[in-house]
Amino acid sequence: MSTGWDLDEFLGISPDDDELLPVNRRGIVYLLHFHCSIRHNAHYLGFSVNLEKRLARHRAGTSGVNLMKELHEKGIGFELARTWENVTVLRERQLKKQGGRSRLCPLCRPGMRLVPVTSRSVA
Ligand SMILES: [Zn+2]
Repeated sequence: MSTGWDLDEFLGISPDDDELLPVNRRGIVYLLHFHCSIRHNAHYLGFSVNLEKRLARHRAGTSGVNLMKELHEKGIGFELARTWENVTVLRERQLKKQGGRSRLCPLCRPGMRLVPVTSRSVA
């Protein structure tokens, strides 16, 4: 089966080689925090049903996401800042629509607790 996919309408990036998942498929929404900003982005928000594999591909620059490839080529590191587990891709879209990803990021907001958020809404 597929490893999950990322959708970044902000950059106009299309899903990679994985097949599209049904919208009710549950997985993990994850937020990556870059060590340096690149093209005015310091975060990447994605959805995957196999986070470890997906992160490995991001690290190797082979995830099919241009921004992550550039990051890899420039040698900029990143960290997994936060996850929302057992959610659907709709959650990712909702978070993306909210904008202001640094508000969601515990690494940008040191006071924030590092706990996965499941079903309740994020303010
Ligand atoms: Zn951050």
